[in-house]
Amino acid sequence: MSHKEIPLSRPNISRHEEELVLKVLRSGRLSIGPMVEQFEEMVARRCGVRHAVACSSGTAGLHMTMVALGIGPGDEVVTTPFSFIASSNVILYAGAKPVFVDICPRSLNADPELIEKAITPNTKAILAVEAFGNPEHMDAYARIAAKHEIPLIEDCCEALGAMYKGKAAGSFGRAGVFGFYPNKQITTGEGGMIVTDDERLADLCRSLRNHGRAVQGKGSIEGGSTAGSWLHHERLGFNYRISEVSAALGVAQMERLDEILRARSATAEMYIERMAGLNDFVLPTIPDECEMSWFVFVPRLSTGYTRDERDRIIKGLRIHDIGSSDYFPCIHQQPIYQQAFGYREGAFPIAESVSARTLALPFYGWMTNREVDLVVQTLELMLSRENLSRRA
Ligand SMILES: *Cc1c(COP(=O)(O)O)cnc(C)c1O
Repeated sequence: MSHKEIPLSRPNISRHEEELVLKVLRSGRLSIGPMVEQFEEMVARRCGVRHAVACSSGTAGLHMTMVALGIGPGDEVVTTPFSFIASSNVILYAGAKPVFVDICPRSLNADPELIEKAITPNTKAILAVEAFGNPEHMDAYARIAAKHEIPLIEDCCEALGAMYKGKAAGSFGRAGVFGFYPNKQITTGEGGMIVTDDERLADLCRSLRNHGRAVQGKGSIEGGSTAGSWLHHERLGFNYRISEVSAALGVAQMERLDEILRARSATAEMYIERMAGLNDFVLPTIPDECEMSWFVFVPRLSTGYTRDERDRIIKGLRIHDIGSSDYFPCIHQQPIYQQAFGYREGAFPIAESVSARTLALPFYGWMTNREVDLVVQTLELMLSRENLSRRA
């Protein structure tokens, strides 16, 4: 890594995180302890929900939610093709079928009308994603789910702290799932969190994350035997626990969440201001009645540009030590999904068109004006190079 590199993302870890992690290391209690409980309480409170279950990753949280909701072979789950692959992989883990619908070009989230049209008697859930932290349509998804009496699962891995129409991301569905990988708003290194108002679902997930053991102090969820011993397993569980060390990181990050989100918003504002006059880019839009929680900053090239041109611009930025990425290639076009389902090109034209032109720029809290300016200057340079070679 060169000293002048501007990375795509950068976690913000302060002395406070260091101190809390050290405290856990010195306590001798490295798993299943008070830090996990505190981390869960903080996230639940922040989302305005009753229960939170911390786990080893966002993907693990989504997987447990699928299992806990009884989704399995023969079931369909309606979801978006414009997301990180994990949001759809968990449907495959459960043995169910992802049914993709196209997205709305403004929010980049699944189009609510298309979701409703895709529902069949086999549909067992809607799995919605807040793409890049944008919570638009979450209320509409919740209404559709309620009308069809199926659960809404909110993959809010990119949206911690976002508010939409007065409700927090994570609180719209039967369950919401956050992820804490180092590029997210806050990080625990690796980690995730299920949030829900449904106590039975929370208890099931607590059992599933801990090898299918009964939940401590609750006996058997199913009734009957209350054998709560360590080697008593009531169901096929996983080891999806999070360590006390990671949870300490999470507690310290949650204590600083507002400060971190404000710094990220300030970076987004700098970009929006700096790029406002550039006609070759479509900038991210902020929905009405929304408090954004910025996950990444992803403008896209206007419709005249091709995927190859976009890819060359990304490469050009990287050569100049500026992080950039093609968030997100469509899930249905990934080799593993092509092999399994063979979608034809143009199956989801908006998602495909958007995905060919997006360009994630370096984004983190406390980016300086000079860094933002250098990124955008280099971007403009790479763009002029493309425009020149076009005419040649
Ligand atoms: C980050 C992310 C996840 C989960 O990621 P993990 O690396 O498993 O924590 C799931 N869905 C989306 C949309 C994500 O962005």
